[in-house]
Amino acid sequence: MKIGNSSFITSAVKYEQYPEIIPPEFAFVGRSNVGKSTLLNMLINRKSLAKTSSRPGKTQLINFFNIDDKITFVDLPGYGYAKVSKAQKATWGTIIETYLTKRENLLEVFQLVDLRHKPTKEDKEMYNWIKEYGFNGIIIGTKADKLSKGQLSKNVFMIKKELGMSKEDVLVPVSAMNRAGKYDVWEVINEILEV
Ligand code: GDP
Repeated sequence: MKIGNSSFITSAVKYEQYPEIIPPEFAFVGRSNVGKSTLLNMLINRKSLAKTSSRPGKTQLINFFNIDDKITFVDLPGYGYAKVSKAQKATWGTIIETYLTKRENLLEVFQLVDLRHKPTKEDKEMYNWIKEYGFNGIIIGTKADKLSKGQLSKNVFMIKKELGMSKEDVLVPVSAMNRAGKYDVWEVINEILEV
């Protein structure tokens, strides 16, 4: 897909605030600071349409982006921020669950994990959740540039094992530093759209 023009649609917390359902939707979720905003900007060739978070964990908003009137990208609030209270965690859970269960045009949820680290308990819970709701469970591994080639393949293997992924399950390594993996992510999106 050639990206002509992307724009911010709206932020939402509650279901009633979601924008009208028109194009197919793809959501992105991950731990705060995993590189989600950076990835979204890379995918749509923009410097800062999706804001990189200066205060991770503080914003519990779902952000919707119109991608060339063809698809919608959805930036889901990040998780795993240490200083978040129990009440905030519960709110986050409700926001995500409502979105995953009620959004009819949602085709896939991409979960981001940092390629350098072992997935956390929350990463595993999120992954299981995504699968339980009937999505494929596609992982995007971020910050590939921080690893050597050898370490990268070792960590891809380790992350897949930790998340209980099968050989066929997809993990796409990306780097916003050198734009690696950008077209691989678009290929996955296009394949889903063609089905
Ligand atoms: P978010 O909280 O998930 O939206 O994370 P951000 O996109 O704000 O990124 C968090 C930090 O990681 C920022 O300092 C980014 O510059 C950095 N970052 C994101 N992606 C990459 C990457 O692919 N490589 C490297 N080296 N740093 C990255």
